[in-house]
Amino acid sequence: MTINRVMVIGAGQMGAGIAQVFAQAGLEVKLNDMSKDSLEQGVSGIEQRLSRAVGKGKLREEARTDILNRLSSTTDLKEASDCDLVVEAVIENMDVKVNVFQQLDEITPPHAILATNTSSLPITEIAAATKRPSQVIGMHFMNPVPVMKLVEIIRAIQTSDQTYEAIEDMTVKLNKTPVEVEDFPGFVSNRILMPMINEAIYTVHEGVASVEDIDAVMKLGMNHPMGPLTLADFIGLDTCLSIMEVLHEGFGDSKYRPCPLLRKYVKAGWLGKKSGRGFYIYD
Ligand code: NAD
Repeated sequence: MTINRVMVIGAGQMGAGIAQVFAQAGLEVKLNDMSKDSLEQGVSGIEQRLSRAVGKGKLREEARTDILNRLSSTTDLKEASDCDLVVEAVIENMDVKVNVFQQLDEITPPHAILATNTSSLPITEIAAATKRPSQVIGMHFMNPVPVMKLVEIIRAIQTSDQTYEAIEDMTVKLNKTPVEVEDFPGFVSNRILMPMINEAIYTVHEGVASVEDIDAVMKLGMNHPMGPLTLADFIGLDTCLSIMEVLHEGFGDSKYRPCPLLRKYVKAGWLGKKSGRGFYIYD
């Protein structure tokens, strides 16, 4: 199957980065968001990242122009009607995602593949909400998308081999490394990462050490590139909480219970870097 035209839905932290890497790989990309502000912010983030690359001599000015010419933005989901692939990156909420997929099922051509960038929600359930479950798949990019090499490709129980192979090929075309994963809560990445972050938050909650010292232990002692609390702020504390809830519910095991301090921060609107405050304070 040939994929030429792509729509990315959600122009937030992840969606804008995903649209950028598709445009860099030579594909026509439409970036969609229900919010005009998010759309403008997403596009301006892409422009700034590309300008920085030009400034550092990593990208030619003409290449920057070509990439931006391949990218358009829209608040109208109906513009997905000529797309071969749609990658959804809206907020981590099953009802919202199912609603988007059901609309896409009506709008997109019958051959189109519908992918989700969900961090943890069951792809099998999203697929079942459409009339084309064999063409639904998880394409889990890492943050920041233009930098990180991994894409976890998650097969729903209904995903066909043809769909899997098309997405695996596309991932290689994006200059990323695909890893095949079955659809279980948290997949591989977040099943391992999030309990570690949650435990780091318990360590703050119980007063074992300061935020800075917990991060220092993991950076200097375990050779992690950044501490778990910095990483949690970077991912978004609301996203971390919803992933822990999916693990807790999906496995029914109390070892995945979200730390009460994480819940409290999210209730306060302290969502990490994107809201200006999480475990650290940002300008
Ligand atoms: P975000 O809050 O930065 O962006 C979400 C965007 O979706 C917002 O701009 C919002 O306006 C838009 N949106 C909401 N509902 C919409 C709808 N119905 N139609 C169109 N747009 C809509 O969130 P994010 O961090 O970019 O996360 C997006 C997805 O990617 C989530 O599923 C998340 O779990 C996943 N993810 C996040 C990370 C991370 O590190 N943040 C990593 C991997 C995957």
